[in-house]
Amino acid sequence: IIILGIESSCDDTSAAVLRNEEILSNEIAGQRVHQEYGGVVPELASRAHQQNIIPVVDTAIKKAGIKKEDIDAIAFTRGPGLLGSLIVGTSFAKSFALGMNIPMIDCNHMHGHVLAHFIDDEGKDKPEFPFLCLTVSGGHTQIVLVKDYLDMEVIGTTIDDAAGEAFDKSAKILGLPYPGGPLIDKYAKLGDENKFEFAKPQVKDLDYSFSGLKTSILYFIQKQEKEKPNFVEENMNDLCASIQKTILDILFKKLIKAAKEQNIKSIAIAGGVSANSGLRTRLEEEAKKRQWKTFIPKFEYCTDNAAMIAITGRYHYLRGEFADQKIAATARLIF
Ligand code: ATP
Ligand code: FE
Repeated sequence: IIILGIESSCDDTSAAVLRNEEILSNEIAGQRVHQEYGGVVPELASRAHQQNIIPVVDTAIKKAGIKKEDIDAIAFTRGPGLLGSLIVGTSFAKSFALGMNIPMIDCNHMHGHVLAHFIDDEGKDKPEFPFLCLTVSGGHTQIVLVKDYLDMEVIGTTIDDAAGEAFDKSAKILGLPYPGGPLIDKYAKLGDENKFEFAKPQVKDLDYSFSGLKTSILYFIQKQEKEKPNFVEENMNDLCASIQKTILDILFKKLIKAAKEQNIKSIAIAGGVSANSGLRTRLEEEAKKRQWKTFIPKFEYCTDNAAMIAITGRYHYLRGEFADQKIAATARLIF
């Protein structure tokens, strides 16, 4: 089975070709336009998707070494995400399905982040059900109990900001460009993570809260800068390391609690923040302590990509679940 996947939920336009569980191509066009605004501008994002989508799909098909006619179905992200962005991918999928006379499959972006673990990747183990997946991205922070490919339950979630937002907003306070997550990661490697301490919120059950962190960082820095105007510059590495440690402490406290409560030792991570090297290292350390079996996605399947949508589409395809031409994109979509 050959599936063309389309992802356009935020600011990356992506198309991928999947043959059975093997990725033949995974093209991603990022959008630099947002950098100067310090965040994604929805209107600009949907316009850029419109410009990118046809060339990206074209390249994905060419690089896969297949013909358009070989495609059995088209899978697309229906939600959640930015409505204007989602509409571009959804409309494209509808016309492609109609034109090629093939079925289309609507996918949940958050299923995609989790199911990226099932893409064939030479010799890499795939998780067995049930497992827990910590999905940490720009818009979500979820502890997901994954019972089957398309049977998932969110057992913990953030009550305010997402982990990726915590990284990006902290970075912004430090004067770093958007998206700051990868930069915090980079500088953190050179810093002392125990140099500064920031408040960790108390939230019930398996839930998270990150909005207090940025306030705590902001006040701390404002106070320091009164005495030392170059405080941030001089302490950039230590600040990044300490901020990253705080975010990871918060994430792991609830992940460990969830693993104990569910008595599950198969632990996966997913989403853009799972590219964070500190998070990957910490996961391995906790795994050693707790005899966890861990699953870490390839870098290119962490942040938004169409490969994860194509594999999600595959499992819907195998279950005979298809969309019709009346399907509409939706900004909010839970599973
Ligand atoms: P969602 O999936 O919730 O709709 P999204 O698709 O915008 O949100 P992703 O593309 O999965 O999010 O992830 C983007 C986020 O990942 C950004 O907040 C970015 O800063 C963060 N991120 C990427 N790489 C790293 C890294 N190495 N360290 C920390 N954060 C990172
Ligand atoms: Fe995402």
